[in-house]
Amino acid sequence: METAVIVHGGAGAWKMENGRLPEAEAACQQAALAGQGVLVAGGSALQAVEVAVCILEDCPYLDAGRGSFLNARGEVEMDAIIMDGRTLELGAVAAVQRVLHPISLARHIMTDIEHSFLVGSGAEAFADLIGFPRCQITDLLVDEELARYLSLQEDPEYLTRTIFVEPGAMGTVGAAARDQQGNLAAATSTGGTRKKLPGRVGDSPLVGSGAYADNWTAAVSATGYGEALMKLVISKRVCDFVASGLPAMAACETAIRLLAERVNGHGGLVAVDTHGQIGYAFNTDAMPYAYALGRQPIVGGH
Ligand code: ASP
Repeated sequence: METAVIVHGGAGAWKMENGRLPEAEAACQQAALAGQGVLVAGGSALQAVEVAVCILEDCPYLDAGRGSFLNARGEVEMDAIIMDGRTLELGAVAAVQRVLHPISLARHIMTDIEHSFLVGSGAEAFADLIGFPRCQITDLLVDEELARYLSLQEDPEYLTRTIFVEPGAMGTVGAAARDQQGNLAAATSTGGTRKKLPGRVGDSPLVGSGAYADNWTAAVSATGYGEALMKLVISKRVCDFVASGLPAMAACETAIRLLAERVNGHGGLVAVDTHGQIGYAFNTDAMPYAYALGRQPIVGGH
């Protein structure tokens, strides 16, 4: 079967911002290439999305892993989810600190224990229990985000949602893939929104909102203003649109129209459907993405 992988680097007001968009696009292309490498070598969709998201988590220009935004207390609290479309098993973490790769911790939760979702200190204790690599906040923090944190301290009126429509690039990351066996998987990872309250969890680690994968329909990863996306359980909704007969592209476009019309939300989606067709849509200024179908060259855009 033809393989497919698509990744995103977050929906937001990228073009109004400084020069981060080319860096984000380059990271997406690198991530799609790595995912494609796993798939053409016969690896699983699950492995492909994890490898792709790890690359994006390493990119300091994206809001996931290294480069994550700081919360209102100056901490980095990250959320992630990975889902296997073959079994519908999933692993998720929320408000986790001091790990470089939350997506890999989420995968361990999925595969190693009976639970699906661990948060905060419990997720960190699990990481320590299995010897999962921990890091310091300084390994996650980039100078630009520290400077933003300090300047936002002076702005008591700041709302986390403004970043999706006013200058200020986002950078949540995600991937969806289909392997040679026709299995689907999806993954999403984020540092959340700038200056969020400690303990705030957005859509990203919530099953059906930040991601969903079901071999019968599609694999989907979402980005955007989490408080709006979660109201629509938007990734599952894309799967439902595919179930009703839409290809991945039309399903993503329909869900983004719904996001705007129903909850006045801003965001983006990437998807691979059960036939290996890719889809993407967003209603923000930009959303860096890249995809690879079979062995064909990577296609990127924003
Ligand atoms: N959806 C993420 C959140 O609300 C942010 C993003 O996608 O940029 O935490």
